[in-house]
Amino acid sequence: MAKLYFRHGTVGSAKTLNLLAVAHNYRQQGKKIVLLKPEMDTRFGREQIKSRAGLEMAADVLVTPETNIFELDLEGVSCILVDEAQFFSAQTIEQLRQVTLLKDIPVICYGLRTDFRSKLFEGSLRLMELADSIEEVKATCHYCNRKSIMNIKHVNGVPTLDGPSVQLGAEETYFPVCYRCYAQQLKLVEMCEPQLATV
Ligand SMILES: [Zn+2]
Repeated sequence: MAKLYFRHGTVGSAKTLNLLAVAHNYRQQGKKIVLLKPEMDTRFGREQIKSRAGLEMAADVLVTPETNIFELDLEGVSCILVDEAQFFSAQTIEQLRQVTLLKDIPVICYGLRTDFRSKLFEGSLRLMELADSIEEVKATCHYCNRKSIMNIKHVNGVPTLDGPSVQLGAEETYFPVCYRCYAQQLKLVEMCEPQLATV
């Protein structure tokens, strides 16, 4: 049985670059792949899967919650690659899980684990529950040198927890941050220096 992979990372962790490299390798070997992305991601134009490093490929299918994965042409396909998988519905993730079983096609999903409020996205939650393999694509914190695990949202340069969790390409900027910097920036806790023992 083919496997379902979830490769998650914060913003700026080169997930899309990683996806495009995998796609390139398959195509160079003459193998057929299918590139999926959610229809809602309009950052770089509807069909393009584009990394911040500048590489891009056109998505084969723009997936909506109404898309039936089993109605796609999967004949002779070696691999299904998914960009921005966090925005897929739980039902779409379940269909991709079934594809690995019934069609024996591996499915590699790239996406964010959590939103700027630190909550799992619908697609990421179902992937965490169903994936054979969960891997982290690492990135460094915007403020320090720790590994980033959170995505912080800035509106006009100010960190905020306000606004919808799904809003692409608007005026907000998202940065990868470690939990310490996330808490500090959003003033979630009073950060204090380690207490010296008093005699
Ligand atoms: Zn940090």
